[in-house]
Amino acid sequence: MTHSAILSAAGLTKTELAGGSLVVLSPIDGAEIAHLTETALADMPSVIARAQQAFALWRTVPAPRRGELVRMLGEELRKAKAELGALVTLEVGKITSEGLGEVQEMIDICDFAVGLSRQLYGLTIASERPGHRMAETWHPIGPVGIISAFNFPVAVWSWNAALALVCGNPIIWKPSEKSPLTAMAAHRCLERAIARFGDDAPEGLSQLVIGGPEIGAALVDSKAVPVLSATGSTRMGAFVGPKVLARWGRPILELGGNNAMIVAPSADLDMAVRAIVFSAVGTAGQRCTSLRRLIVHRDIRATLVEKLRAAYASLPVGDPRNGATLVGPLVDGAARAAMIAQLDRARGEGGVVHGGTPVSENVPQGGAYITPALVEMPRQTETVRAETFAPILYVMEYETLEEAIEMQNDVPQGLSSCIFTLNLREAETFLSAAGSDCGIANVNIGPSGAEIGGAFGGEKETGGGRESGSDAWKGYMRRQTSTVNYSAELPLAQGVRFDI
Ligand code: NAD
Repeated sequence: MTHSAILSAAGLTKTELAGGSLVVLSPIDGAEIAHLTETALADMPSVIARAQQAFALWRTVPAPRRGELVRMLGEELRKAKAELGALVTLEVGKITSEGLGEVQEMIDICDFAVGLSRQLYGLTIASERPGHRMAETWHPIGPVGIISAFNFPVAVWSWNAALALVCGNPIIWKPSEKSPLTAMAAHRCLERAIARFGDDAPEGLSQLVIGGPEIGAALVDSKAVPVLSATGSTRMGAFVGPKVLARWGRPILELGGNNAMIVAPSADLDMAVRAIVFSAVGTAGQRCTSLRRLIVHRDIRATLVEKLRAAYASLPVGDPRNGATLVGPLVDGAARAAMIAQLDRARGEGGVVHGGTPVSENVPQGGAYITPALVEMPRQTETVRAETFAPILYVMEYETLEEAIEMQNDVPQGLSSCIFTLNLREAETFLSAAGSDCGIANVNIGPSGAEIGGAFGGEKETGGGRESGSDAWKGYMRRQTSTVNYSAELPLAQGVRFDI
């Protein structure tokens, strides 16, 4: 399909894709696929005011009825899956199956949120006073601002949107300026669901704003946006997080990762190789959970590196629309230049680099194609400790499990981690309080490709936020503790006497 056929199949019209100042490029071949009109900064106060007005109504709609809207969103996404998936591929360069997988993730979180809409459970709590009942209730909190990154252009929005909507909150979404088209098409699915849902959905329940950091900053700075969920680099989070806190808002931060795998002597190496290659090379290394550090027991290091070099040598790099391709382009030339610069730094620190070569043959011209790099490092240097958003896998060795866990934890980020071992003691130690310090810790599974049922997020410079499954919904509500006295006395807590 041509670029314009993909755009039109996703419901984007020629008129709205032309005439604006935001140029959108396809990583496939660098083609300019749209010139979008950006949201005017001056319009942001009215966008936020509309969301506040919508909140006054939406919070009174019963949660299971709110869930009905998210069920309809799931239906619309199912219908649009092929077209949206193709647009993800066009706009961010994911291979076809990953583009479709991203849409499936949206469908999955909708299903989860529909069930959740009947399970926003509070607690009853034993009161120390006779004739008293204590309870904890969860209430809607207000407009939720969602700032998303380019690499999951729609899935991360849906994690936030589906939960925020069933929790009773309007949403305002500012997608990455590198991926606004997929956002427009996905948001249209929600608009169709809202139209079918009827009058219970107030005007301004969900709004999309287009632009760069300054448009995001309007959400960050507004006291009328009590929850601000921001996904992106640690640099962005370091700016956004303190600003939201300083105005007493609640940030949900999903920032950079520097994810590791420990491979122990007992590991099933064939399984480990498959997991390593998918998580280091999939999405061209542009997942927050991509595998970036391999910590291998020294007895098996040579064997594993040999297997990996063989696997890397046969990886098809190319046009992400081609069904045989496993490694598509990086998002742009700057990302490829950053990868090459980082490989040079690693060499300067004693690293031996395999791969990392720009590819220009048998690929569409104008895209930033490069072979994934495997880098044997003498130790965990500063270069290894930084996240480079590209397919670089650093390999280091260890002797004792204690040493491996220390190395795994000795980075500023704390998103995802894993161990490959058939030894129960090693696996449980890795998962214990003295083990991995990450938000996600897996055994015999790579660090990327999480399911929506678990809470997603990480510690340290990854930001501490949690989204998606488990009880992440609590981040989108306010908690209220209530004590009801149905006795004829007024006893005070802790036995305090205050007789008048
Ligand atoms: P980025 O930080 O450049 O941009 C992310 C978003 O933040 C964009 O929408 C951008 O416009 C906005 N933004 C940037 N500065 C801002 C500011 N000062 N005020 C308000 N908004 C601002 O990130 P990116 O290059 O799009 O994405 C890659 C990064 O995102 C990687 O570090 C990756 O690890 C991280 N990421 C994390 C997760 C997670 O769940 N932890 C998921 C996806 C991506």
